[in-house]
Amino acid sequence: MPLAGHCHCGGVRLSVAAEALLGAGYCHCSICRRLSGAPVNAWVAADPAALAVEGAPSWYRSSPHGRRAFCPNCGSQLWYAPDDGSFVTINATVFDDPEAPALRPGLHIFTADQLCWFEIADDLPRSPDGTLPG
Ligand SMILES: [Zn+2]
Ligand SMILES: [Zn+2]
Repeated sequence: MPLAGHCHCGGVRLSVAAEALLGAGYCHCSICRRLSGAPVNAWVAADPAALAVEGAPSWYRSSPHGRRAFCPNCGSQLWYAPDDGSFVTINATVFDDPEAPALRPGLHIFTADQLCWFEIADDLPRSPDGTLPG
């Protein structure tokens, strides 16, 4: 069963096979913060070949390394695509069932940028930069 999701207005829909998911986590970087409007961004990484999209997202170059897809109508942030095409990270909260076990965050990244008033209350691995532990 693919995991399906959509932007707030429903103009852009996406789905991805559960087998194509590569892990999930929280990002504390300043780019995710500004673009999401939230202190952290919950993401799930996936094989880009497995991401199916209906509708026409707009793109924003958020860094020299990649771009973000968002809905041109409602502005929902949908996913990040690095230029090298090695993966995508989809915003986990756009899925119809964001509590699906496959979407449960397993680590924190960019905790060097973590806001001082945001307290992490779990024992998940933490990476100060984007380097994945292990
Ligand atoms: Zn929309
Ligand atoms: Zn980030």
